[in-house]
Amino acid sequence: MQETRQEARTYLDYNASAPLRPEARAAVVDALGVAGNPSSVHSAGRDVRRIVEDAREQVAGLVGARPADVVFTSGATEANALALAPRQAGERLLVAAVEHPSVLSGGRFPTDAVETIPVDEDGIVDLAWLEGRLNDHPRVGCVSVMAANNETGVVQPVARVAALARSAGAVVHCDAVQAAGRLPLDMADFGIDLMSLSAHKLGGPMGVGALVRAGDLPLSPLLSGGRQERGQRAGTENVAGIAGFAAAAECAGAEVASSQRMARLRDWLEEEVRAMCPDAVMFGDGVARIANTACFAVPGISAEKAVIALDLEGIAVSSGAACSSGKVGPSHVLAAMGIAPHVAGGAIRASLGWASDEQDIERFLMVWRRVSAALARRRDQAA
Ligand code: PMP
Repeated sequence: MQETRQEARTYLDYNASAPLRPEARAAVVDALGVAGNPSSVHSAGRDVRRIVEDAREQVAGLVGARPADVVFTSGATEANALALAPRQAGERLLVAAVEHPSVLSGGRFPTDAVETIPVDEDGIVDLAWLEGRLNDHPRVGCVSVMAANNETGVVQPVARVAALARSAGAVVHCDAVQAAGRLPLDMADFGIDLMSLSAHKLGGPMGVGALVRAGDLPLSPLLSGGRQERGQRAGTENVAGIAGFAAAAECAGAEVASSQRMARLRDWLEEEVRAMCPDAVMFGDGVARIANTACFAVPGISAEKAVIALDLEGIAVSSGAACSSGKVGPSHVLAAMGIAPHVAGGAIRASLGWASDEQDIERFLMVWRRVSAALARRRDQAA
């Protein structure tokens, strides 16, 4: 990894947040130096407006959308909440069981109107179940299925979900936070209506994201009292954040085509972990995954202990279920895949990104050899 203030560390937690790219940092700093409110009519305001509109074009370009379709938000949690609102009373929402909590919570749908779409043992949505549900329930207003999972990296058949949902008249939302910059994304190819993005997973700043909508699908704004973002999100725009988001989107978009480099690093990590721990379980390794994510467990080795031991040696990875309070809880993703709790409790996620290199993998493996051997000894002594 390139030198940062955390020079001595090996950072393998890009799915939680990617380090800020130098290009994004420069764009943020430049934008901070420009005075003016983008809604002002004077030339200073117009200069700032140009930063926002150029950024809108770059973000739209990442997902094959029109600039006018991009609504900037404070991140993907807000984008998901903006997307998930009933358009008519009594509508139901179907979400994949492995979604991020901000989707699982159902946004502004009443709790009893939200239903989860089951997944198979690889974490892929059950299309037959979805089709059956759409037939039984004519009032499904929205279906939300993510592009790639944050814990396992498993890729969903979004285009097939969208075809089923649209033919039943439902709006289709996709949380593409983890797929953006890692897979080619095109709103029209997917056939979806709404897509959520987050800047900090791409190497942009935290606290900025977007909801991209196809065409003029009406939204139900969360914030009112201003005409910013074409009336879809009131409040003066986070101009510096938006500028950083755009710079990161441009870099990430250019890297999509070279994801084999990332896949080689990830596959090497997994192979070596398997060689050291033959009973290790690799989640989702038989199905399509984004190239940067390895999620594995060694039965009987606690993820919490492993993450702490790795951290003490300067390696940052997550347990399969890092939650926002910093405590490690059971993973709803692995539970939905039917993984037994004693295996799921050991799930460790290593996720790579723009600055990851061979040295990071080497250091991880060197430390993992020691840490896993020590924890396995303790496990065997306790047995
Ligand atoms: N969706 C997914 C799949 C995520 O991984 C995350 C971040 N953990 C979010 C939504 C929330 O994004 P943000 O941090 O921008 O609110």
